[in-house]
Amino acid sequence: MHELPITESVLEITLRHAQAAGATNVTHIYLVIGQLSSVVDDSVQFYWDIVSKGTPAEGAQLHFRRIPTELVCLECDLQYQPAEGSLACPACQSSNVNVKAGGEFYLEAIEVESDEKLPPKYSEGGPSVDGSS
Ligand SMILES: [Zn+2]
Repeated sequence: MHELPITESVLEITLRHAQAAGATNVTHIYLVIGQLSSVVDDSVQFYWDIVSKGTPAEGAQLHFRRIPTELVCLECDLQYQPAEGSLACPACQSSNVNVKAGGEFYLEAIEVESDEKLPPKYSEGGPSVDGSS
């Protein structure tokens, strides 16, 4: 049950970016979850609905991108994706391995709406001063 603090920090980061962009409303949030991070999509979604209530990010749609686990065997240097239920090297059966990918969890991007007619995707630049000529 570690999804609550995770979801809270996602919200915090989201709101910080939204505020920096002058956004009034966050519409989409893109999250990357490594297979090994054991974060459950449904739990994040569940907590999200609770913690985002009353914030500009309320009702934002969460998108999850799963990154498959990738390991490197320290004995034979084989890089592989582990079979279900076992992390051991398929070539030499060693369990002396390094995690190369799959442990990550981060916020990849957010999409916002704002009164300022910013482009729909979050960007660093301010609104363009584009007077009708
Ligand atoms: Zn090996």
